[in-house]
Amino acid sequence: MRFGKFDLSIIRECVFKLDGGAMFGVVPKALWSKTSPADEENRVVLACNLLLIDTGEKKVLIETGMGDRWSEKERERYGLKSLVSSATILDQVNLKPEDIDFVVISHLHFDHVGGATMVKDGKLVPVFPNAQYVVQKGEWDFAFKANARAKASYRPDDFVPLQEHNQILFVDGDHEVVPGIWVKVTGGHTSHHQVVYFESENDKGVYFADIIPTKSHVTPPWVMGYDHYPLISCDIKSDWLARAAQENWLVVFDHEPGIPWGRVKVDGNKFAFEALAEDSLTFASGKGKALASVG
Ligand SMILES: [Zn+2]
Repeated sequence: MRFGKFDLSIIRECVFKLDGGAMFGVVPKALWSKTSPADEENRVVLACNLLLIDTGEKKVLIETGMGDRWSEKERERYGLKSLVSSATILDQVNLKPEDIDFVVISHLHFDHVGGATMVKDGKLVPVFPNAQYVVQKGEWDFAFKANARAKASYRPDDFVPLQEHNQILFVDGDHEVVPGIWVKVTGGHTSHHQVVYFESENDKGVYFADIIPTKSHVTPPWVMGYDHYPLISCDIKSDWLARAAQENWLVVFDHEPGIPWGRVKVDGNKFAFEALAEDSLTFASGKGKALASVG
């Protein structure tokens, strides 16, 4: 999709499932199950939606999804269906992993950075060999000292090989990655969680990562149970959504299983999400297909 001088594509890397209660925190199931129906194990369907921004000069990939390195047992636990493999992840947009200049990682949880590394000839290597992976230094440090509750979401094999290959660009706070694309620290989900704000000509947009994972999370108090600082998430969402609505930003949701991008409007004292048309997901080259459906 054209966006000022940029070209944007969504790459759906996988679909998976997580416990509905954990996804919606203190919101009662009677409410969340209306928009996100639960399966027999109380899990709701999610996706990993990566955003590729081609600025014309540089190619920036936001997030990497779950990746390939999962046992059968784990795949079952998460209802994980990979839709692409790490080596061929960019085939659908007629690119190769070597073409990516920057990979932005919102935070180091496995459903965001799992696809950053892969096994090649028995060794763990970065999937994008020429890219700098943009990581908050505070998030990196936390990943190695996470306590018992936070620990389960971090797998060192997802990110330690990036450092061994000298491919991490550590940032400390807000940072302009390439002209027109910024990472901005929000906190909330983790202390150093970052979103990606981008603008070109008159168009503005934001990739909310885990601050607003699906369209059902647009209501500010609908915060995930996974969040380390849920009250901060609630306030941050209100601030960012107000700006997004006022300036008609494109908003992108990392785990939305339906159409993952659109606009938000103020609706009384709430926010309402309006998805873009499905053909916005067709790749600009005309080749490749729209999002694989959740099924
Ligand atoms: Zn997360």
